Amino acid sequence: MKTTFGPIPKYTRVRLINKKEHPFISIGGPCAIESLEQIKNIYKSISVNVTHFRGGVFRAGTYPSDNFGLQIELLQEMHKEAIHYQKFNVIDVLDIRDLEKLDPYTDVFQVGMRQAQNYSLLTELGRQKKQVILKRGSWMTASEFLGAAEYILKGGNENLVLCERGGVSHLNHCRWELSISIIAKLKQITGLPVIIDASHGTGQRELVTPLTLAGISAGANGFIAECHQEPDKSLSDSEQTISIEDFNSLAQKAIKLSLYLKQNEIVS
Ligand code: MN
Repeated sequence: MKTTFGPIPKYTRVRLINKKEHPFISIGGPCAIESLEQIKNIYKSISVNVTHFRGGVFRAGTYPSDNFGLQIELLQEMHKEAIHYQKFNVIDVLDIRDLEKLDPYTDVFQVGMRQAQNYSLLTELGRQKKQVILKRGSWMTASEFLGAAEYILKGGNENLVLCERGGVSHLNHCRWELSISIIAKLKQITGLPVIIDASHGTGQRELVTPLTLAGISAGANGFIAECHQEPDKSLSDSEQTISIEDFNSLAQKAIKLSLYLKQNEIVS
């Protein structure tokens, strides 16, 4: 029988990680941090429903005009908020040269999809101990995704979370096509936690809740979603950003669904 799946057996570290229970991961916040007041307000409103705060202090947009540059003061404030609420803060890292600057104010490094095969960055993240969230590049197969994960694991950092955020497809009802099957597949062949990003994965506000729940049903260990007090006024990714009320409702549904599936042994 022909398999299209590629050379998984090579990735010994990914395969050797013991399958264990992972705590549920719930990540929320704005795509871009716009002001101190904004994050104070958002984090306060979602703190009971999240484990991690997200917020872009700099990001790589599709166009250079979408690039905000690093806002170190806002990062420091975001870190203070995370300490205050006893949450982890998640920061995107674009360049190996930024790691040292970000490190004192960052609990979790996120590798965005455009950096997913930046091997020098992945290697460096493997040498440190902090949690890394690795997003799948929109072009990447499961094998390529695991190859990227292997770069981090190889350095000795097994505190790794894989994130499905959609990829290219012939379908055009969404910007990207989320792969629910890749979540189940990654869960079956690795012991790593897998989360779903239905904000970037669909690019559409009204699809974030149903697709997040679909990912949880396929075994995802959590989710990430962008939210804002006034989604239409978001500086970035407004069309996929949900309101605070919708985020809290989604988070509660996701946690409830995940618990139900585990308690009833529907997914492992
Ligand atoms: Mn975004």
